[in-house]
Amino acid sequence: MTANLSELYAAMMDQPRLTPLAGANALGANAYLLEAHGLRVLLDAGSVRDRPAKWARLAGDLDAAFVSHVHGDHIGALSALLYSNPTLRPVASPESVALAPYALAGRFAALRRANPRQLARDAAASLRAVAPGSPFELARRGDVSITATLSRCGHVLGACSVLLDISAPESFHRIFYLPDFCLHDQPVTPGADLPDADPERPIDLLLMEGVLGADADADAVSHGPARAALVESLRHDRPRLLALSAIGQAPELASALSAAGIPCLVHELARPVFDVYAASGADLSLVTFADLAACSRALDEGDLVIATDEHLSKGSPSHTLAGARTDLDLVVLNAQRSPNARTRRVLLPDHAARSQLREAARALAPRRVALVHGAARTLKLLARALARDGHDVVVPSNLQSITL
Ligand SMILES: [Zn+2]
Repeated sequence: MTANLSELYAAMMDQPRLTPLAGANALGANAYLLEAHGLRVLLDAGSVRDRPAKWARLAGDLDAAFVSHVHGDHIGALSALLYSNPTLRPVASPESVALAPYALAGRFAALRRANPRQLARDAAASLRAVAPGSPFELARRGDVSITATLSRCGHVLGACSVLLDISAPESFHRIFYLPDFCLHDQPVTPGADLPDADPERPIDLLLMEGVLGADADADAVSHGPARAALVESLRHDRPRLLALSAIGQAPELASALSAAGIPCLVHELARPVFDVYAASGADLSLVTFADLAACSRALDEGDLVIATDEHLSKGSPSHTLAGARTDLDLVVLNAQRSPNARTRRVLLPDHAARSQLREAARALAPRRVALVHGAARTLKLLARALARDGHDVVVPSNLQSITL
């Protein structure tokens, strides 16, 4: 009996498992640990907090890591991770690697670190660019290997999902991590490219975001027409200021404006991001970059200006430019609340709303779905909808392991 129990225990310990270190039942830092036959792989390295993240210690010694995209809640704690894993080379798409120095510099600057650009360049230099679509060996120990395949997943330029094939002498498991994604095309970034379900090798576990899983307004948005209506509404000659996020909103909307023949001035802080988008084929032909003084003069003349950040945080270009102007058509996208009473809020989500989340789960046909990265209530409601669709759904807590 004792022998049987210890065998059972050994078998359980050998069973691959996935543990959210951060990101379960919450928005904010994303960090999910996959343990399989002694291999340890971290999916995303996010934190938006100042303190060294607790999860970075829990991650321990890693064999490999994957960064899905360069938003702060997915890449923000890269330095903390490298501190405990100095030889780690986290994998990311080529566009994410190109955007990482900018994304991390913004974070270090917000934390008031000295020389944020150098710190950001050092951390970003650890990333290893891997092109989507081709399987590669992510980690190996003896006769156990984890093969990874990245696929573009919409959301922002460079964002990727990852398919993980865990091969051991007597077992095979497949995990699909679908982080922030959307199925609809944006002006520059195409919608997610989901792998075909393979009946021979089904996905054992789909680990999926659920940020907008219960947002009926987001689900009702018809993306093409909504974007076209926004662009048309900006064809007037009062001063117009778009307060947008640099990675995603600003270059996507600037590209839609260029395509519609509407020129715009962009505050120069966002230029490095626009350069990466342009290198990826974005049409930014009617974009001109300018410093704060030139942007301000342009607004005086009734022009259209794009500036970061989307929250109009004190001291940001958007906040400074909005100033005390009362004649301004001030627009933000996807804000929960208006930064001020004069702001026009437009809904143009770059996350999957409920119908897209259901569509993705249906297409991938996993044995089990684990929902993360969303408010607890949102994930609960989404889980109910997916269960009605016939899925086996779990909403784990942080540090609660899901055994495959
Ligand atoms: Zn994101």
